[in-house]
Amino acid sequence: AFDVLVVGGGPAGAAAAVYAARKGIRTGVVAERFGGQVLDTMAIENFVSVQETEGPKLAAQMEQHVRQYEVDIMNLQRASSLARGDDGITTVKLESGACLRARSVVLSTGARWRQMGVPGEDQYRNKGVAYCPHCDGPLFKGKRVAVIGGGNSGVEAAIDLAGLVRHVTLIEFDDKLRADEVLQRKLRSLDNVDVITSGQTLEVHGDGSRVNALSYRDRSGGDVHRVELEGVFVQIGLLPNTEWLKGIVDLSPRGEIEVDHAGRTSLPGVFAAGDATTTPYKQIVAAMGDGAKAALSAFDHLIRSSSP
Ligand code: FAD
Repeated sequence: AFDVLVVGGGPAGAAAAVYAARKGIRTGVVAERFGGQVLDTMAIENFVSVQETEGPKLAAQMEQHVRQYEVDIMNLQRASSLARGDDGITTVKLESGACLRARSVVLSTGARWRQMGVPGEDQYRNKGVAYCPHCDGPLFKGKRVAVIGGGNSGVEAAIDLAGLVRHVTLIEFDDKLRADEVLQRKLRSLDNVDVITSGQTLEVHGDGSRVNALSYRDRSGGDVHRVELEGVFVQIGLLPNTEWLKGIVDLSPRGEIEVDHAGRTSLPGVFAAGDATTTPYKQIVAAMGDGAKAALSAFDHLIRSSSP
């Protein structure tokens, strides 16, 4: 059996693997796609101490770092279930049918942004279509952007972006914003933000290389409008990759794995880190810090447990 089995190979999983392996214990990583969301990222400018890098480059460096140690990396493998036996051993079942046994587990299966599913969204991803205001906001300094979604994350994004960009158009599908009143009040006080409710985004337009407009339908009148802009921030939800853990570890109403300050889940010997958990602010540095913490907690669990 592994001493620590890490499920997920993004920044959280990579950090957990490095920290576990450096304790000289038997460490494995099973990942559907080693690198995780980092593989889908272009410019990264907030990975502190590295002024600028690119996602695929950082993902390759994470993998190299893990491979410095004796870590069993099982890439392109998806975990489908998990169970803890009376002997304190956790079994992780893979979709391939294989079963992996471990004395402790770190869950770091990350998350995915919910997409609008409209024409142009895929074509212009990273070419004007963005999902993370903390990451990509500064790239739109002085430009015009739309934020799609009027929940807390959409309204927070609009307030944040309004301080950086020339103009923000916030578009909400419902006939009212769903964000907390205090955020809505702040939003209404900003003079470079337009709020459109009952707006159904129809298409992201571009010139072939970059976004140049967005069209939406007014759901009350039916008219179609076109907004000229350079960026579209999609804020309609971050979905944790935890469907396979329902009923096994405690999840929040949003499906995030409930963790305490040390990365412990509701199941003894099972820890979690990164975007898949209830920790706020989904970022690479935060996920790596979480991964380190979860691995150290797993090690602490191992030295305190009686099984050999
Ligand atoms: P992820 O990176 O999501 O990794 C999850 C891992 O788990 C992957 O290996 C995945 O294949 C695997 N996995 C999922 N389900 C299973 C399963 N059932 N079995 C096995 N493996 C599984 N953050 C920044 O700090 N700066 C940025 O500039 C930045 N830009 C971004 C741009 C984009 C387009 C996106 C999408 C995100 C960006 N982020 C950025 C956010 C950052 O990428 C995430 O916060 C970070 O990757 C989270 O790390 P993680 O390890 O928790 O999860």
